[in-house]
Amino acid sequence: MAYSKIAVAIDFSPTADVVIQRALDMAHNNAALLCLTHIVDHLPPMGFGEEPLIAPDWMIPENTLLQEAEKSLNNFALTHAVIAAEQVVAVGTPHHEIARIAAEKNCDLIVVGSHGRHGVRLLLGSTANGVLHHALCDVLAVRIPNE
Ligand code: AMP
Repeated sequence: MAYSKIAVAIDFSPTADVVIQRALDMAHNNAALLCLTHIVDHLPPMGFGEEPLIAPDWMIPENTLLQEAEKSLNNFALTHAVIAAEQVVAVGTPHHEIARIAAEKNCDLIVVGSHGRHGVRLLLGSTANGVLHHALCDVLAVRIPNE
């Protein structure tokens, strides 16, 4: 069975180069479409006590964050010669959103890095692990060599 649409999770860390390369190979070998996704990590504005976690003046509006993420994802696609791929950005918890977007876009494979910005804290990075638990389709965790 060939995959027809592949969601690829891009976190803009140096490991994203390895992830996109593997996703491009998979797309080529399966004649599949690609859907690049980036999730803007959700930061709760308030702490657990009375004090805000971030001073309001320092908070960047969600729209601005999404626009910046869209630009970065577009640049990433250009730099890696990813043509005619869908691009989706969202705000939230990365593993939830990646699984949700993949289902919404009818992807039958999700490609993530074994670890990215969070490093090798677990056998699989927290995001890869979370995607595996929430995804409705196959998940390919691209092995990122330890530094
Ligand atoms: P991490 O859990 O940060 O070590 O990341 C593991 C992998 O999850 C990365 O290589 C990406 O494929 C994916 N990932 C993590 N954070 C994000 C994010 N904010 N947006 C899209 N993909 C992400």
